[in-house]
Amino acid sequence: MKAAILTIGEELISGFTVDTNAAWIAQALLPIGIRVVETVSVGDDPEAILGALERLDNRMGLVIATGGLGPTHDDITKSAFCRYFDSALEFDTVYWDSLVERFASRGVVIPENNRSQAEVPVKAEVLPNSVGSALGLRFRSPQTTFILLPGVPLEMKAIMTEEVLPSLGKRTGDKWITVRTSGIFESALAERLESVLASFPEVKVAFLPEYSGVNIRLWPESSGNKEPGEVESAARAIETELGALAYGRDQASIGKIVVEALTARGETLALAESCTGGLVASLVTDVPGASKVLLGSVVAYSNAVKEQQLGVSPESMRDFGAVSDVVVREMAAGAQAALGGTWGVATTGISGPTGGTPKKPVGLAYIAVAGPGGTVSKEMHLAPIRLPHKAATAQAALNLLRLEILRLEQ
Ligand code: ATP
Ligand code: MG
Repeated sequence: MKAAILTIGEELISGFTVDTNAAWIAQALLPIGIRVVETVSVGDDPEAILGALERLDNRMGLVIATGGLGPTHDDITKSAFCRYFDSALEFDTVYWDSLVERFASRGVVIPENNRSQAEVPVKAEVLPNSVGSALGLRFRSPQTTFILLPGVPLEMKAIMTEEVLPSLGKRTGDKWITVRTSGIFESALAERLESVLASFPEVKVAFLPEYSGVNIRLWPESSGNKEPGEVESAARAIETELGALAYGRDQASIGKIVVEALTARGETLALAESCTGGLVASLVTDVPGASKVLLGSVVAYSNAVKEQQLGVSPESMRDFGAVSDVVVREMAAGAQAALGGTWGVATTGISGPTGGTPKKPVGLAYIAVAGPGGTVSKEMHLAPIRLPHKAATAQAALNLLRLEILRLEQ
């Protein structure tokens, strides 16, 4: 079945709100074999909404629309749909009473303009909203089913998960897999995987570079394909070929992998961060259960803190500079010693835009890991743009720790 997504809201087309609803819905439809072939955004404008409905009706099996179902004057989606389907509105007193009660239980008198949310189009079916007051709606034309959902992502997801997806059918076995890699460039990766991928002609592949590494996305050539296991086989073949360069699948994060590995080993982590300014600690503390492994992070931005808190020697600072292999190794060992961790991980670099020299340009970074097997370090030349540089350095530092743990386990 061909599907389209229609997201409605002035804030979407002006760029103030990023359209995360369309991305989420498209992904949610994949496992049940529904491919989104078109995504459209329009403003809170009845003519624009009607135009989009006319264009999508009959051409699509399914249209999922979000936004503009609220009680405020800019929320005109419902009336536009009623115009298109020539439907009257009926006041649902039972639903209104339940809204009054829901507000009262929170000690709030319901505003009068919420009454519009109890007005239900006669020609639509209602899709209950377990987390908010705007009801979802389903309209049908001879060829097309239209689902209308609130714009608030939390409410949209609740109605999709509880009402819409179960009504659309079962999983077809179509599977999209993302293999996540760190420490190899896109071009090198593509070259290395050429022959592996050639043996899976039924599988489509995309290389998606991010600052944290390159993701390899795999999906079946056609929906409901003949070989449902092909995508899984291709992912495994890629993982075998890449070995430690592939660190996880789908939503895996380097922070989670490191926290899980250290938890399993009963080991602890101490951080010394210069150019990443606490970002490594942030990646680690994003993971529930991080407190079992993370002792702390010294954000050692100044030379004085590097020397006084981490024991970096003034001679190393003088002879090699704060951004150097020697200093990052001393920082890692210093964090390990000062905080008493099994592992010490350190970062230093020049994120820019200023501070670069011909010998040490913006983008340069050093990372180090001090652990039971000694200290290792790495020099890297990353994007010379401040935030991506920080993100890539933090990711690489945790990846180096992951590789060291793997090395110990071999
Ligand atoms: P409400 O009852 O809250 O008014 P609504 O259905 O009228 O819900 P909107 O007014 O369109 O929804 O949007 C409500 C909030 O949800 C806004 O903060 C908006 O930025 C956000 N939002 C709307 N559409 C999207 C979208 N496509 N992606 C991400 N966020 C969205
Ligand atoms: Mg609104």
